[in-house]
Amino acid sequence: MFHDNKANRLRKEILARVARAFFADQPADTINRIPISMRLKGARNASRCCIYKDRAVLKYRTMAALGYSVENETDELKPISAYFENALRRTEAADPVLTVIDVACSACVTTQYSATNACKGCLARSCETVCPKKAIEFREGKAWLNPEKCVNCGLCMKACPYHAIIHIPIPCEEACPVGAITKDPETGRELIDRTKCTYCGKCLRECPFAAITDLSQMIDVLKALQSRHAVAMIAPSVAGQLPGTLPQLITALKTIGFSDVVEVAAGADQTALHESAEWLERTTGGEAFMTTSCCPAYIETVEKHLPELKPYVSDTPTPMAYTAANVRKKDPEAITVFIGPCIAKRVEARKNPDVDFVLTFEELGAMLVGAEVDVLECEAASFSAEPSREGRGFAASRGVTKAVEAALPDCRRLMKPVQVDGIDRKSLLRMKQWSSGTCPGNFVEVMSCEGGCIAGPGTIGNPRIALKELARLCDESPTMTDRRTDEPVSI
Ligand code: SF4
Ligand code: SF4
Repeated sequence: MFHDNKANRLRKEILARVARAFFADQPADTINRIPISMRLKGARNASRCCIYKDRAVLKYRTMAALGYSVENETDELKPISAYFENALRRTEAADPVLTVIDVACSACVTTQYSATNACKGCLARSCETVCPKKAIEFREGKAWLNPEKCVNCGLCMKACPYHAIIHIPIPCEEACPVGAITKDPETGRELIDRTKCTYCGKCLRECPFAAITDLSQMIDVLKALQSRHAVAMIAPSVAGQLPGTLPQLITALKTIGFSDVVEVAAGADQTALHESAEWLERTTGGEAFMTTSCCPAYIETVEKHLPELKPYVSDTPTPMAYTAANVRKKDPEAITVFIGPCIAKRVEARKNPDVDFVLTFEELGAMLVGAEVDVLECEAASFSAEPSREGRGFAASRGVTKAVEAALPDCRRLMKPVQVDGIDRKSLLRMKQWSSGTCPGNFVEVMSCEGGCIAGPGTIGNPRIALKELARLCDESPTMTDRRTDEPVSI
């Protein structure tokens, strides 16, 4: 689902302001002023009780944009510039991946059912009779749910013929497919259980207060760009994310300081070739099915929630892993920066010494704004070679399947592909059964995000437009059969 709302725009604005501060003449002063300049004295646009609380929330958002979680704050008087200076000195990017800004996260109530004015106080009062906890009381002729007694079973809502009782969800908890986020009853703040979290980013996208945010690596990358030795590895889902064309974006990336730019779609070609050979070997060897391995949120899901599927996951490296290995082979000193739609890639990168940093498209957009580089005004860079249309197609659901099919034209009739287009509670239950022999196919493509990476949590473009742009880019590319090679491709 496309999430262009004010909460997400605010996150982008903070990132852009931090990037602008990095390039400013007096960065420390500029960065300290972010909360005040966004909520000027007398402003009426505070979304909270007062501008002072709003500014406190903005300070924590700025900390997250610098790669620090709220939990890192030990001294409330420490200015933002102190975090900025520490960020410039640190040698490793931030951990953990996500943080909850507690002062921003207190508005969602724990009681999830409420009676509205639509209640007629009817004679039947089915809500009252159906409630096993006697939580429904009548006040001035209308139903009222006693929060002390209500256990959120929802029976009253189903019983009311006027639909007068409504369900008020806690959006982040509702979005989480694995129950990794729950409210601390004492503080009202959501807590993320890292032993369960798969870093899918669904809670981050769904929180209407933008209280859940990822810890940015933007400052680390901006600093790395000064070495003029950083290589950008752009994910295939770049289509439709930023204005301008891919060749113009390559020039823009070089303008802000990347020494080279490579397309991860070329690594996807290698993944497809190896994964198809692996699938053939496994299935002809008697294995019932094999699943893809390129979505890190799925890999985390298997590790933490579906261990029974572990033997069925492909061992083939991901497109990011192939691309980073190719870059390092060419230049062992290169600083490698994956730029994509994904938060879980940060977890994958931590396990792969070939990948130094992971940026989202959201962060890239902010960096370009901060550096005042307009992609539309950039000249188009020329390509020396291109990945295949199938490699680029990895960005959308069914893309990996199509690439594996294209790599095995003679065995296509043997393939029975199945897609898991978005991991949710239902698909989790379905996958849990598969190890007992109920998988309906023999090649399973799993994408945590519905629609694939073009709808990932770090994207900024409308996925429907992105899909069209991706199709256009794929149409311009040679097919895998045209350029069947295992050689790395660089731009
Ligand atoms: S990132 Fe995904 S798994 Fe982790 S808490 Fe958020 S919704 Fe749940
Ligand atoms: S579908 Fe793509 S963007 Fe979404 S979690 Fe998986 S790899 Fe990341």
